[in-house]
Amino acid sequence: MPEGHTLHKAALKQTPLLVGTEVRATSPQGRFLEAGMLDGARVTEIEAYGKHLFYSFAQGRRALWLHVHLGLAGRFEYFKRQPPPAPRSSVRLRMAGPVNTVDLRGPLVCEVVDAARRDALVERLGPDPIRKHTSHARFGARLGKTRIAIGAILLDQEVIAGVGNVYRAEILYLARIDPRRPSNQVTPDEVEVLWRLARSLMRAGITDGRILTTKYGGTDLEPAHPRQRTYAYKQARCARCGGPIDHVKLAGRPCYFCPRCQT
Ligand SMILES: [Zn+2]
Repeated sequence: MPEGHTLHKAALKQTPLLVGTEVRATSPQGRFLEAGMLDGARVTEIEAYGKHLFYSFAQGRRALWLHVHLGLAGRFEYFKRQPPPAPRSSVRLRMAGPVNTVDLRGPLVCEVVDAARRDALVERLGPDPIRKHTSHARFGARLGKTRIAIGAILLDQEVIAGVGNVYRAEILYLARIDPRRPSNQVTPDEVEVLWRLARSLMRAGITDGRILTTKYGGTDLEPAHPRQRTYAYKQARCARCGGPIDHVKLAGRPCYFCPRCQT
């Protein structure tokens, strides 16, 4: 599933393509009946919160939001030429501006929401480390209240927004925290380290366009293979101690870690 950096990157990419323009909104697949509500509306802002995208639209004097969650299979396609090619039959939503066209296929969620629903969706999410003006205070407070394993809680979007299965393993590996440790036994200093790692690695993911944590681990951590992109996730050997990387099922998915280095 795409992690937070993918959605932030999509928002950054689509902003200059669509914001300020009136779009023709259609659902070639026919499954997004609300597309008509956005047709002819002007896109005023595109923002990511965790794994969610919100497009603000001005339809006359009315403000509307498009809420998108890509889920496992959702993806965007971009067309610069005019007219754009005929959409594939699987396109849930086509937004065609005067120059640029964005197609959305296979999302988990694609819906039109009003301001109240949009605010409720955002408020339910934990702080998103990629966003500016966020702090780890609420994240730390939530950790302090639960014995659920830290490796599981990092995937809870209501605790911290945007972290997925790859980043949780990498963040915990670099912080040297065992993913099975109860969250309320993570010290305040460690909370800060987790937050700082989440922020820096996920922001780097936007720049790199992919998850590439081995570039940021420091010179003392040389991965076994120069082209290795992660330290723990789906790896065999620990870059620190040379021991085997193990995995444990947490929140329904395997969390990779070094049992020797992560305590
Ligand atoms: Zn190790």
